[in-house]
Amino acid sequence: MRHLPALTVSELTDALGSRARAMETLKWLYAQRPLPSILPSELPGVSHRVWTPFVERGAKLVLPKILERQLSEDGTTKYALEFNGTSVETVRIPAKGRSTICISSQAGCTRKCTFCATKELGFIRQLSAEEMVAQYLLARSEDTPDQPATNVVFMGMGEPMDNLDEVMRAVEVLTQGPAPQLRNMSVTVSTSGVLPGLKRFLAESKASLALSLNATTDEVRAQVMPQTKTWPIKSLLDALREDAQRRGNKRDYFIEYVLFGGLNDTDADADRLVALLEGIPSRVNLIPYNPFPGTGLQTPTDERVATFHSRLVRSGVITLVRSPRGREIAAACGQLVLSRDGAGFSPVS
Ligand code: SAH
Repeated sequence: MRHLPALTVSELTDALGSRARAMETLKWLYAQRPLPSILPSELPGVSHRVWTPFVERGAKLVLPKILERQLSEDGTTKYALEFNGTSVETVRIPAKGRSTICISSQAGCTRKCTFCATKELGFIRQLSAEEMVAQYLLARSEDTPDQPATNVVFMGMGEPMDNLDEVMRAVEVLTQGPAPQLRNMSVTVSTSGVLPGLKRFLAESKASLALSLNATTDEVRAQVMPQTKTWPIKSLLDALREDAQRRGNKRDYFIEYVLFGGLNDTDADADRLVALLEGIPSRVNLIPYNPFPGTGLQTPTDERVATFHSRLVRSGVITLVRSPRGREIAAACGQLVLSRDGAGFSPVS
């Protein structure tokens, strides 16, 4: 049985016997601040006659317990949340006029990227669509009117393409009206490059896609992302190129590129990257490596980052350097699960 907040309008319509009641339920849910811990016994706009049996049949509101809330100096908030004894992390990143909620799709991760702290957890379990949307709902309930939570990125713990049915449902629910009705382009699913899932996502979803490329040759990429042996760079970029052609360039593709000092940050890498992205309407996000102990990987110098950046820009590639947000609370990319002192890992049940 599916539960709120992951029911679609049509499922709610079936359960409550009318579309108007489905809409009232969603409007009510997204107007609650603070969030209720359970579904109420009565709901304004929905007759008692249908609401009571709905709740009695076992309909629930899935919400996490907040284990910890850490606020960074730059305004980023990292939540340690618990669903049924499983801990996950969610981050709210405020920016001018909006906030982005970074949600987890798995507890731990099915992938083994050497530079990412989440891999130390191994794979714990898949998160349900309820648990993904609940992360958004919770983080959104504490946003501010001048920085509303209008954007979602699936860039927390986990590989979304290894849990795609649930991720697709979460995307559908996040973008449905009357609430929260996020724009498809404001919801971004990020993948390490799991080709079968990537292709299915591109064919079936209108949301934005981010590909964590992180290298320009298969040899270097395989060192840090072992799955490259199964799905080489060319196969991933060809999938984006074909999708762009099919859709008449209607979608932007975010290319995430973590810069590791001395490994993938040379001028030759920058030039190869430009060539690789030919024919793909892409936006490159350069992420200087957020260090984590024991990887042997280096953070590049600021000068290297600037040179790499300007080389891409001069070649006409739209490129941003992502300054680390919330690094001191280990909320930045690849730091989810590191404890505050950076030496150990937060408890996971
Ligand atoms: N599995 C998905 C989503 C989670 S990772 C994916 O790989 O895209 C989200 C982003 O953080 C990815 O782009 C990843 O390359 C980046 N990342 C992981 N570890 C990092 C680190 N230590 N420093 C900087 N970025 C990192």
